[in-house]
Amino acid sequence: MPQFARRIGRAKPSAIMLVAEKARRLKAEGRDIVNFSIGVPNFLPGLHVYAAAREALVNDSGQYGSNRGSDALLDAFLAHLQRAGMADYGRTNIATGIGAKHLLYNLAEVLLDEGDAIAFATPYWTSYLDIAEILDARIQQLPCGSEQDYKLVPQQLDAALAMKPRVFLFNNPSNPTGMVYGRAEIEALAEVLLRHPATWIITDDIYHRMIFDDVGYHNFVMCRPELRERTIFVDSLSKTYGMPGWRVGFMAGPESVARAVTTMNSNHITNLPEVTTAAAIAALSGPQDVPAAKRAEFQAKRDQVMAVFDAIPGVRCPRPQGAFYVFPDISCAFGRRHAPSGRVIGTDVDLCDVLLDSKGVACVPGTAFGEPRALRISYTCPTPQLAPGLARIQEFFAELA
Ligand code: PLP
Repeated sequence: MPQFARRIGRAKPSAIMLVAEKARRLKAEGRDIVNFSIGVPNFLPGLHVYAAAREALVNDSGQYGSNRGSDALLDAFLAHLQRAGMADYGRTNIATGIGAKHLLYNLAEVLLDEGDAIAFATPYWTSYLDIAEILDARIQQLPCGSEQDYKLVPQQLDAALAMKPRVFLFNNPSNPTGMVYGRAEIEALAEVLLRHPATWIITDDIYHRMIFDDVGYHNFVMCRPELRERTIFVDSLSKTYGMPGWRVGFMAGPESVARAVTTMNSNHITNLPEVTTAAAIAALSGPQDVPAAKRAEFQAKRDQVMAVFDAIPGVRCPRPQGAFYVFPDISCAFGRRHAPSGRVIGTDVDLCDVLLDSKGVACVPGTAFGEPRALRISYTCPTPQLAPGLARIQEFFAELA
């Protein structure tokens, strides 16, 4: 058989999916499983979104569409940006893609040559590392452990950017930690970014409509408009509108970058489908009550999860203020024995495995996000499952000898 390209040897299947598959298998075998593993919002968009999709089907043109995205969709994204506090962008600053992941992949192709460095905070969202590895970029990880609330601090960013990475990739609110940067923190990081003009800035802010406690959403461009010429904002409908399977994302940034991403689109996806486009426009332009209600629901669920982790001796859990994740540092369990199963917990992977086998609760080991002292809870499961799932986790820790 002829050889594969080298890059596919560097591509790995998602660690999150491996946990989710085991949970699914156990469930199929009849086990009672509470799944805290998959980062899906677990709600459906409003009825107006389905109505728009049906209407688009009836009026289907049957043609290829624009590589950049239809004008109506670009305009809907511009209005969405304005609502988030970002004015002064036009259609030529926007490009669309098959979800934020596709945009991030496209941007990495556009901005990074083999061997160029990309810097990001650790813990990171898994695909940041995977995409960089596939493209053979150099990865500069900036460790942000629980002791610094999983957040980047200005001195750390300054030192990292002094090494002139081509790209700095930032995520706010964060997956996996749920942490949110407040105005003063974003301002301080923006000051550092200003001092390092050789680096592109990508802000993956797909959870920016899920911010709690009135912290508000802030980004570098709002604080320092000078950064606009090298900052690319990435967003998607997946989490905000409960539409992960519809696959719609976009970027807003310099015209040259939007044009390059459009060129990439012209060479693989060609265009977003018409029906999807219509649904996306309806979600962005129609009533905004679903995302607003979900934000309130997730904040209450965050409180419920935190009440449990705050009560487990030895577990340190910085309080998230956004998205739908909690990322407790569970390293206090290492070296201890889970009495009922007799298994010794050596690592986060062991802990998640024993927790799943013994209590039927699926969480993702922090190793998947570059932080082996933690695990990730995604708390969007149906509400009646949340309290029992958390009670089982509490029970599990109480059983460690
Ligand atoms: N960025 C972050 C931080 C995410 O958590 C995810 C999905 O989990 C994505 C990007 C990808 O989102 P999309 O569904 O738009 O591709």
